[in-house]
Amino acid sequence: MTDSSTHYSAEDTTLTLLLHIRKNIKHKIDSVNDMIQSNDQLMNHIYHYSSNKSANPLEEYSQLCNECNCSSEQLNKQILSLTTYLHQINNQINTLCVHDWVTDYIDIDVEQSMEITYCSICEKNK
Ligand SMILES: [Zn+2]
Repeated sequence: MTDSSTHYSAEDTTLTLLLHIRKNIKHKIDSVNDMIQSNDQLMNHIYHYSSNKSANPLEEYSQLCNECNCSSEQLNKQILSLTTYLHQINNQINTLCVHDWVTDYIDIDVEQSMEITYCSICEKNK
């Protein structure tokens, strides 16, 4: 089975490649955010953990985090770099894309819908 979203053909333009990079960066941001949330949940457990138990598993965990660059501090730095890069990618996409504006309606609730205009190529909102 081939995944068309990851297959690059000879016809791929710089814009197409940038759109793939942006998708990839967004996935990375999502997964780093997941790890940050998971660390926060752990911090909550640590807060309630009584340290006068015989074995302390936290030391080994901290060491592992440092080796994997996945401490909360390192993850927050990663988010900052990825977000900055995402803004740059968005600017490049915006410059290269010959926008194809499409108007659509999205339902807010059962009675109301909202008109939105977006580019069918780069998904930018007007
Ligand atoms: Zn566009």
